Amino acid sequence: MEKNQIFETVIEDMSEQGEGIGRAGGYTLFIKDALIGDRIEGKVIKAKKTYGYGKLLRILEPSPFRVEPLCPASSPCGGCQLQAMSYDRQLQFKEDKVRNHLVRIGGFEEKELPLEPVIGMEPDETGQRGFRYRNKGQFPFGRSKDGRIVYGFYAGRTHSIVETGECFLGAPVNRRILETVRSFMEEYGISPYDEVRHEGLVRHVLIRTGRHTGELLVCLVVNGGELPHGRELAKRLMEIEGMASVSLNVNRQRTNVILGEQMVYLAGKAYITDRIGSLAYRISPQSFYQVNPVQTEKLYGKVLEFAGLTGRETVWDLYCGIGTISLFLAGRAGQVYGVEAVPAAVRNARENAALNRISNAEFFEGRAEKVLPGWYEAHPQAAADVIVVDPPRKGCAEELLRTMLRMAPRRIVYVSCDSATLARDLKYLCAAGYSLEQVQPVDMFPMTVGVETVCLLSKLHADQHIEVELQMDELDLTAAESKATYEEIKNYVLEHSGLKVSSLYIAQVKEKCGIIERVNYNLPKSENSRQPKCPPEKEAAIREALGHFRMI
Ligand code: SAH
Repeated sequence: MEKNQIFETVIEDMSEQGEGIGRAGGYTLFIKDALIGDRIEGKVIKAKKTYGYGKLLRILEPSPFRVEPLCPASSPCGGCQLQAMSYDRQLQFKEDKVRNHLVRIGGFEEKELPLEPVIGMEPDETGQRGFRYRNKGQFPFGRSKDGRIVYGFYAGRTHSIVETGECFLGAPVNRRILETVRSFMEEYGISPYDEVRHEGLVRHVLIRTGRHTGELLVCLVVNGGELPHGRELAKRLMEIEGMASVSLNVNRQRTNVILGEQMVYLAGKAYITDRIGSLAYRISPQSFYQVNPVQTEKLYGKVLEFAGLTGRETVWDLYCGIGTISLFLAGRAGQVYGVEAVPAAVRNARENAALNRISNAEFFEGRAEKVLPGWYEAHPQAAADVIVVDPPRKGCAEELLRTMLRMAPRRIVYVSCDSATLARDLKYLCAAGYSLEQVQPVDMFPMTVGVETVCLLSKLHADQHIEVELQMDELDLTAAESKATYEEIKNYVLEHSGLKVSSLYIAQVKEKCGIIERVNYNLPKSENSRQPKCPPEKEAAIREALGHFRMI
């Protein structure tokens, strides 16, 4: 195939980014806006050796999954990739995506995957599914070719602004807010930011809506320390019903990162409040908060179910944001610890605990991969019954996973917004003593290719453990978990009795207790081989450690 060549194809598959995949002349083509099941005519726009990119010219026969997009800008706008696909088919697309990742990256057996169908959105009052769900929008401001101030969304893979007018994923009030800002800028001659020249003032407008409280928050991200006539804008915005917070965020960097560090509050409070279930949460402009409140309740419901709490457990909620999951679980747990990197979010988390009169939740500020290992080093004897992780797209740092394995919680609940890194991390955990019990995708981002997944991992019991370890021997894998366990026992013994014990002694005591895990590891091959025997005082100390770790 060559550039500009016209081709005809039937779309047989979809890429993870939502492009249609078809074949023509033995060549694979990725075609934006083409849908699985379509027969199309297209033009090659980029030709590589074995694959290329095509442009959709004409739909010759539409896919049975095709629907009319609600938004007229859905094709140029980079926000939605799947609006032309029926909602049920979108859910199937997402289930397939999670399955593919778990099988291809995670190495799980497809037939044995405990994967449930995606939990989708119910129809809204107008009968539509998957629209008007977002409680947050970040709208870039710029200039059109003819010099007007425009706002909208970036086109896919570029930074040219598509004037979407109204976005059908967000709240209708967004438009009024954005128009208020635009006309204010025009009136006072305030220029939007030009990222090529790194000049101009207004970069983005961030809007948050509290679904249950009706509160609104507006934050202008500006390339400067202040906004001329900012009070006037704040006054106009505060006239909008529900407006609770108007602020500036200062971002003078040449960067794609939207928010900067410094905040300037212009009117109202520094946060809005929203509710999930019976709990109230304070949310600052800089804090993370799930964007789809309807589905968040379902997601957190699954987290609670998977955590299997009885009221006594110690729970860690890593990457806790403003403490939403922590506080959701606190009512059924003994003690909850949350860890979060963004200082404003940690402040919100502490305020939220107080706001809801929850006293068994404590929050640490810092990176999870630093905080947890540090804490565990300082408290090696402390138990963690359940660990919840909800990392950003890049998944968990290995350092964190290693510490989690050493802490050996009975359950790990992994909440993920990227099933590829999820699969990578599950593989790591399942190679070291955990089994994947349930995988529940939840559609938090209808019309887009994104999917949230919550997984339950449980620690294998001693008898299951033996099987797994043997299999690992056969596969000639070094079991990270088994090392960790020996390390843990050694550390515990040293700490509690001052004795140093070897892996061999631990293996001998484990065998005596009937819990030896690796039959041909660390043990004499024959009865009469000359191996040192574990002295009684060390045996007693090891037994105590095994008891502490609930292995006997
Ligand atoms: N569980 C929360 C937030 C999940 S989003 C909720 O459901 O609302 C992921 C969070 O991880 C964000 O708040 C982000 O600020 C935080 N984060 C990102 N990297 C981190 C790290 N290395 N350590 C701790 N928190 C981190």
